[in-house]
Amino acid sequence: MIYLKTDEEIELLRENNLLVSETLAEVGRHIRPGVTTKELDSIAEEFIRSHGAVPAFLGYQGFPASLCISVNEQVVHGIPSSTCVLKEGDIVSVDCGTFMKGFVGDSAYTFAVGEVAEEVRRLMTVTKEALYKGTAQAKAGNRVGDVSAAVQEHAESFGYGVVRELEGHGLGRKMHEDPGVPNYGARGRGPLLKEGMVICIEPMINMGTRTVVFERDGWTVRTRDRKPAAHYEFAVAIRKDGPDVLTDFSIIEQAINN
Ligand code: MG
Ligand code: MG
Repeated sequence: MIYLKTDEEIELLRENNLLVSETLAEVGRHIRPGVTTKELDSIAEEFIRSHGAVPAFLGYQGFPASLCISVNEQVVHGIPSSTCVLKEGDIVSVDCGTFMKGFVGDSAYTFAVGEVAEEVRRLMTVTKEALYKGTAQAKAGNRVGDVSAAVQEHAESFGYGVVRELEGHGLGRKMHEDPGVPNYGARGRGPLLKEGMVICIEPMINMGTRTVVFERDGWTVRTRDRKPAAHYEFAVAIRKDGPDVLTDFSIIEQAINN
């Protein structure tokens, strides 16, 4: 069941997703060698609560933290830990959710820890570009497959692996609504995008094989070949005249470039 949102509901989703962007910016300011992923999680939880929201991931299907923090070969759903210490050259994908005024925010960003290898920097850049290319297709009259194919084609043109097991989703009063938004697919296929739909587009792109392993902690997903993966996520409202991106990466990028 796909729920179409009113303009008022889209504004509440925008409020949530801007808070997620601000939270990711706050986390980004603290990312440096020596910090633990648990410390980053605490910073995010306090920031979210101090802005009148609740961390949407905490307790979701039993998830034990406010952020998913996935380092290097971890693709998504990494659990913050006091023993996971970031070091120079790591990349760290941070996925954040909020719940406020009856609606959910959900976005993700991959950060560099200090200087990272050139090939890793390229993976980050291409994954973000894949998100932008998918987002450009997120307009009324297109289909989910148009978004999916745009993401897949860009990532695969660099020889990267596109994760199949996890996908984007509708966003609203619940974190995961219909439709599913895969990062691979065929143009002109899948559900029709209509004005008032809100979807999360979230490419998970691996430097090597697309195959992933689900770790025994019940959450963490990592690349089988242990090469790095990147993950960026936008919440996007579908409008007649094009995509209305509810997430704001410029807040994050201003924070980390200072
Ligand atoms: Mg997310
Ligand atoms: Mg999501």
